[in-house]
Amino acid sequence: MSTKYVYLFSEGNGKMRELLGGKGANLAEMTNLGIPVPQGFTITTEACTRYYEDGEKIAPEIEEEINQSIAKMEEIAGKKFGDINDPLLVSVRSGARASMPGMMDTILNLGMNDEVVVGFAKKTGNERFAYDSYRRFIQMYSDVVMELPKSNFELIIDEVKEKKGVKLDTELDAEDLKELVVRFKNYYKEQLNSEFPSTPHDQLMGAVKAVFRSWNNPRAIYYRRMNDIPSSWGTAVNVQAMVFGNMGDDSGTGVAFTRDPATGENKLFGEFLINAQGEDVVAGVRTPQTIDELKGIMPEIYDQFAKIADNLEKHYRDMQDMEFTIEQRKLYMLQTRNGKRTAAAALKVACDLVDEGMISEKEAVLMVDPKQLDALLHPQFDAKALKAASPIGSALPASPGAACGKVVFTAEDAVEWHNKGEKIVLVRRETSPEDIEGMHVAQGILTVRGGMTSHAAVVARGMGTCCVSGCGEVVMNEEEKYFELGGVTIKEGDYLSLDGSTGKIYAGAIPTVSAEISGYFGRLMGWADEIRDLKVRTNADTPADAKQAAEFGAEGIGLCRTEHMFFDTDRITAMREMIVSKTEEQRRAALAKLLPMQRGDFEALYEALGGNPVTIRFLDPPLHEFLPTAEEDIIALAKEMNITVEDLKNVIASLHEFNPMMGHRGCRLAVTYPEIAEMQTTAVIEAAINVKKAHPDWDIVPEIMIPLVGELKELQYVKSVVVKTADKVIADNNSDLKYKVGTMIEIPRAALTADEIAKDAEFFSFGTNDLTQMTFGFSRDDAGKFLDAYYDRKIYESDPFAKLDQDGVGKLVEMAAKLGRQTRPDIKLGICGEHGGDPSTIEFCHRVGLNYVSCSPFRVPIARLAAAQAALKFPR
Ligand code: PEP
Ligand code: MG
Repeated sequence: MSTKYVYLFSEGNGKMRELLGGKGANLAEMTNLGIPVPQGFTITTEACTRYYEDGEKIAPEIEEEINQSIAKMEEIAGKKFGDINDPLLVSVRSGARASMPGMMDTILNLGMNDEVVVGFAKKTGNERFAYDSYRRFIQMYSDVVMELPKSNFELIIDEVKEKKGVKLDTELDAEDLKELVVRFKNYYKEQLNSEFPSTPHDQLMGAVKAVFRSWNNPRAIYYRRMNDIPSSWGTAVNVQAMVFGNMGDDSGTGVAFTRDPATGENKLFGEFLINAQGEDVVAGVRTPQTIDELKGIMPEIYDQFAKIADNLEKHYRDMQDMEFTIEQRKLYMLQTRNGKRTAAAALKVACDLVDEGMISEKEAVLMVDPKQLDALLHPQFDAKALKAASPIGSALPASPGAACGKVVFTAEDAVEWHNKGEKIVLVRRETSPEDIEGMHVAQGILTVRGGMTSHAAVVARGMGTCCVSGCGEVVMNEEEKYFELGGVTIKEGDYLSLDGSTGKIYAGAIPTVSAEISGYFGRLMGWADEIRDLKVRTNADTPADAKQAAEFGAEGIGLCRTEHMFFDTDRITAMREMIVSKTEEQRRAALAKLLPMQRGDFEALYEALGGNPVTIRFLDPPLHEFLPTAEEDIIALAKEMNITVEDLKNVIASLHEFNPMMGHRGCRLAVTYPEIAEMQTTAVIEAAINVKKAHPDWDIVPEIMIPLVGELKELQYVKSVVVKTADKVIADNNSDLKYKVGTMIEIPRAALTADEIAKDAEFFSFGTNDLTQMTFGFSRDDAGKFLDAYYDRKIYESDPFAKLDQDGVGKLVEMAAKLGRQTRPDIKLGICGEHGGDPSTIEFCHRVGLNYVSCSPFRVPIARLAAAQAALKFPR
């Protein structure tokens, strides 16, 4: 049977998401449920894929199916496309499998032309409305399909208004709108050298192609990369009969959620505009009324809507985000989907739905996006400092959290300042999808226009970025880069603080404190912990980080980078002294200074983890990160070492490496200078003995990890130094302490020979940062400079340093795990590269049977939840 590319809403259902996209599947499902939905059809995601396979062309058989579907739609609606008496007008919208808000383009009122508009005016008895619909269509079509800038059409509108001496669009009458239509079409012809398409069929095909193309616009590509959506999915296209919310005061349009998307409160929440067309609410151009107010204005419609909302939530067993239109007191549902929500709301809704008996605990665990938890764990304003501060204004609390940073006015500046290391707050009149990168790097976002469902609000909530929207009191001067609010002038670069939970805006910087975690968080995490197989450890180098991680539920330290313990200015000198030592004597003198510092730090780490396992990795300092470069540092170091500056400079020059990441680092240091491993072993073992004395009931078994091993004999050599030293320290102290020696698997050769390495390694920890660097052969320090080009050219879809490359690097991990287990069946396997906190990588680690993941403290809860989701999706 040949592939079917087009489905009427009545032919689909909610399960056909992959084929019909989220919007199309839900429109079909609502149709099946008997909910009032304007009828139409969905062109499948397969048609989109086919469009690209065919060299960006719509195949004749697909076009034929579209024509047949229009004919069926005409039958259902009792109206005809292009009919000059009672025309069928349609909307064309994109709808991918995963919701991508604001990423794709929409065209309304398609089917209009010079004849149709006359008939439409007669039929509706409203000439102004008809011509307004027509000019909106020309504008949208020109913008979305032909990429003529919207703003140039706005300029034409301004000219007509000026000529007439009026300020508002609503003051233009039918004659003015007719003039606009003519001017718009002239402008179109001038710019494109062709007439505006007048047949509905041509218009439709142009629009369908535009939606397919929009799948690959830069905003969509960026959004996909941020949300792990593969480009191979494609988007569906929904063609739906128009209903009009702008037919007078008995019409309107709105967006509503079945629960409050910011707090999760179980209460219908939303906004609507009377006498407005679809996109006006989402675009945030006019400030809408709350859904509660609809009760007073059209009580029977409100009741009908509330009932539908309730039914939809029960049907989908999740909070719904719905769009509706009222056309002359008749309600139509245009869309429903599982609503985006803040992290706090996600937890409350998940727990509430369990308590309401709607879902199981397992379903609740699957319902929350692990990445979202980030927002919950991030700082809030220090309460005392906040009390002392007085706001200069307030607006809608669109996305919670506290933000403090320097003000910039454009998304480009946001990215530029961010890259220079600044924390920034982005202030915009309103945001649009073009601003997405700037929004992503911002601490917080402030907009002058727009409601709780405006673009800024929806996108910021999705990202977990603090956002205050719709602050109409702001007087903006974007040109000269300043704004005024509450009598205060804020210039570019000035500090601004935003409270996304209260909507308050403060001049200056307010200090922030760690987040307080709600009871819902604890409940959900409790369920997750019962389900998951993977243990979750943390990468921590300081007792403070370790404590924070333990509070977030870390079950041990998977990686302590001992060289990081010497980043402090008062400690780095001793570390540098060790590195630049020319003789063993000098080196031992420097190591003697390091020993007590290390021992003290290790004691604090064991204490912070309360007896849980702690993996301490031996020194791995890529020399370029540690050698002094500033003149004053060199002078100070020479003084400390009692050598001349000249002498020291010569040593530094001799240590210069062309490729420090592949240089004299990792276990290579201990091979050349075994005294380093001796000192570190002494510190690890002595610290453990001391802490065990204080806590005899703790089962402390230090795990010593040798980095950058690529050959068994290399490991054996360093291990022999460790064992000799450790056993002596233990004997000298009359202790019975046990310890383990293992290795990182971070060099491809180690992965390839993992069966050999496992002879002497009691555990493996996959160092996927170096393993990625060395498998791809590009530097972790420099890849950022060229990876963007790889995303643009769709060679890579995501950053392999953030999300594990499962096909290549992952293959090495899987193979090494298998080989390691062959030699040593009880070998402990973990991951400690940055990937350890990435949900898709965690799922991979679960599937290949690792024992634990280790990640930075703030990602521990994310990892706990992601591990549980992996266990539910892939039972071991
Ligand atoms: C790694 O390479 O993945 C790792 C954890 O070690 P580092 O980042 O310190 O090189
Ligand atoms: Mg490494």
